[in-house]
Amino acid sequence: MKKNKKILVPGGAGFIGSHLCEKLLNFGNKVYCVDNLLTGKKRNISHLIKNYNFKFIKKDVNKKIILKVDEIYNLACPASPVKYQKNPIETIKASVLGSLNLLDLAKKYNAKILQASTSEIYGDPKEHPQKETYHGNVNPIGFRSCYDEGKRCAETLFFDYHREKKVKIKVARIFNTYGPKMDFLDGRVVSNFIMQCLKNKNITIYGKGLQTRSFCYIDDIVEALIKFMNLKNNFTGPLNLGNPYEVNIYEIAKKIKKLTNSKSKLIFKKLPEDDPIKRKPDISLAKKTLKWVPKITLNKGLLETIKYFQKNI
Ligand code: UDP
Repeated sequence: MKKNKKILVPGGAGFIGSHLCEKLLNFGNKVYCVDNLLTGKKRNISHLIKNYNFKFIKKDVNKKIILKVDEIYNLACPASPVKYQKNPIETIKASVLGSLNLLDLAKKYNAKILQASTSEIYGDPKEHPQKETYHGNVNPIGFRSCYDEGKRCAETLFFDYHREKKVKIKVARIFNTYGPKMDFLDGRVVSNFIMQCLKNKNITIYGKGLQTRSFCYIDDIVEALIKFMNLKNNFTGPLNLGNPYEVNIYEIAKKIKKLTNSKSKLIFKKLPEDDPIKRKPDISLAKKTLKWVPKITLNKGLLETIKYFQKNI
């Protein structure tokens, strides 16, 4: 892989973004992290600030950015349902206006640009597991729409810029990801359950807990994103990235309780509107194109995440 590239990471102070910045720096690149810190955290990148090759720019991705770079990884968007539903307009603006700005920038400097899309573009899927060819089942006016439809529109923009302006694009559809540096208070299932277990508080299962997700450890996702960007061919995706190991929410509650030796009780609360019932990526395309499979098991990944929470809360 070519070193000393100039790389822009909008959303670089977020959970996935901060891990990605660190890895790109370790590979010898110059990294520009742009983040408005709406959901990103300075503490995620504090250990990188002293690195000569790292520059943090506090800025909204929906404002014009002029910076000559070789590559752009666009991770700028609130991603946890609790957080994006608190800021729905900012969320859709980040995806739509942010993508337009960054695609113009990529065009101007002939940079390669990767969009962090999401499994949410499949909505509440009627196809299982989800392949890249599935078009999804999304409510355009629900509480999750600011995220789902924003990310869907971003994908459209990426492909239109590719077809009309020949911009070099990569679209990765990232499934549920967890690991150290997840926001303790982002309201997501893994962070909520770990926090609740460590404090011996009730574990809040929404609905009956029979809905499923497939959780991928952060290091696996970061590895796949970098591989995708560095493919020698012009493969654009869309490409599912995630761990196909599917569990239901009740099982994950029991697992986290056991791994933390917690005395917490499992309680049941109302299932949020439009909460997808099943989610599992078909990753055959990623296996074939990237020669990649996720390596970290759920148990090992959860133990690492729990260690991080114990040390930092
Ligand atoms: N969930 C839950 N209890 C919580 C938080 C989430 O049962 O305290 C459920 C939520 O309803 C969803 C699943 O866990 O079915 C995953 O939620 P999360 O917000 O982590 O991500 P999503 O995949 O829905 O974007």
